[in-house]
Amino acid sequence: MTDKKMKAIVANKDHKAEVVEHDLRDLRPGEALLKMICCGVCHTDLHVKNADFGDVSGVILGHEGIGEVIEVADDVTSLEIGDRASVAWFFQGCGHCEYCTTGRETLCREVKNAGYTADGGMAEYCIVTADYAVKVPEELASPAASSITCAGVTTYKAIKSANILPGEWIVISGLGGLGNLALQYAKNVFGAKVIAVDINDGQLEFAKKYGADLTVNPLNEDPGEVIQAKTGGAHAAVVTAVARSAFNQAVDSVRAGGRIVAVGLPSESMDLNIPRLVLDGIEVIGSLVGTRQDLKEAFQAGADGLVVPQCEMRLMEDINDIFDEMEEGKIRGRMVIDLENLSNH
Ligand SMILES: [Zn+2]
Ligand SMILES: [Zn+2]
Repeated sequence: MTDKKMKAIVANKDHKAEVVEHDLRDLRPGEALLKMICCGVCHTDLHVKNADFGDVSGVILGHEGIGEVIEVADDVTSLEIGDRASVAWFFQGCGHCEYCTTGRETLCREVKNAGYTADGGMAEYCIVTADYAVKVPEELASPAASSITCAGVTTYKAIKSANILPGEWIVISGLGGLGNLALQYAKNVFGAKVIAVDINDGQLEFAKKYGADLTVNPLNEDPGEVIQAKTGGAHAAVVTAVARSAFNQAVDSVRAGGRIVAVGLPSESMDLNIPRLVLDGIEVIGSLVGTRQDLKEAFQAGADGLVVPQCEMRLMEDINDIFDEMEEGKIRGRMVIDLENLSNH
């Protein structure tokens, strides 16, 4: 594989994505080479290429990658040639810290993130640390698997962290790409009753089609009041919206002992009335992507047909258009870059 070249999408100094010819190095011990099939485009990729988290120009973007294993280093036992595997935001942990050894590996302080601190999946090939790439079940199509690699596992883990039981009420705030998957996991995997909250009636209609039990538009009515009146307060809330108001409404919407799981990343603080927190035993936690085990479980729900991501295939050269559409809020479902059918130019 020495001196091999491939097409890849990198972030450049001008905060644009660029399709370039990129070197492909040899495998090192513990690694596997994936021939990439597809890679979803996430809002985080937009932040990375805009250098919102610092300048990482030159890195290959993409952390919703699915590829087929075509080569493994001699010492690799976790993947075999022909397997399909993921390139995820949680690309690799140190393996020995307090987080890595207690089922909280995504909090590892030495973590490597694909498409940010490690070359990611928007390329013809991607080198992964074999033990950290999660195998895709046979029944799950690659584009769906790519959406589950980030959006799916993020929402699956958030609902898992909400400790919701079958028949209990959960608020899903923000019904965009993440929220729609959160709704499906909450209903179809956890058996919860879902209250969809969004300021966009179109998204709420979509949520109803996917089985939302109650929908609330905060532009028309107060979510806290409506939810307390109709359900006695939700048992939990998962906030994927990127507005401070959504977090405050979530606090107002849960019952005593309720748990609020923050997933969206607005840059502000939320209001939290301390007597409410203490007297009503409200819990607020943050949730970041998911572990390898979470991803395995999230994939299985997809393979079982319980969760169906909405995907649209796009060309590598479309990447800047996709980012523009994302910034303009035009995207429904997930845009996925087709890495098998490359345009010849
Ligand atoms: Zn992502
Ligand atoms: Zn660690």
